[in-house]
Amino acid sequence: MSIEINREACAGCGACSEACPGSLLLLDEKGKAAIPKPERCWGCVSCVKECPARAIEFFLGADMGGRGGRMSVRREASMLHWDIRKPGGGLKTITVDSGDANKY
Ligand code: SF4
Ligand code: SF4
Repeated sequence: MSIEINREACAGCGACSEACPGSLLLLDEKGKAAIPKPERCWGCVSCVKECPARAIEFFLGADMGGRGGRMSVRREASMLHWDIRKPGGGLKTITVDSGDANKY
């Protein structure tokens, strides 16, 4: 389970590095996000949610019942729109109100 960073899209803001609870992300010598030990990622998706440039995608591999799709998120106020790109093409979006997270 891991993430993939689009270095072209990365703006070097460091938000992902601050968000990762495992301190797995850093900014490299070019000021771009990097994950030197991707095998340590446990898929909490905090970095995916915090990246303002949508430069991080979560890889949905077989280890978590996926088939190689990729997931990223768009924020709209408290709404999170999770876009899942399927490996053969096609897009599915799941919308969640993050304001509901602390209701229960
Ligand atoms: S998914 Fe979670 S554990 Fe993995 S790199 Fe991102 S913030 Fe860290
Ligand atoms: S949050 Fe996104 S734009 Fe900012 S450093 Fe991380 S990958 Fe780059």
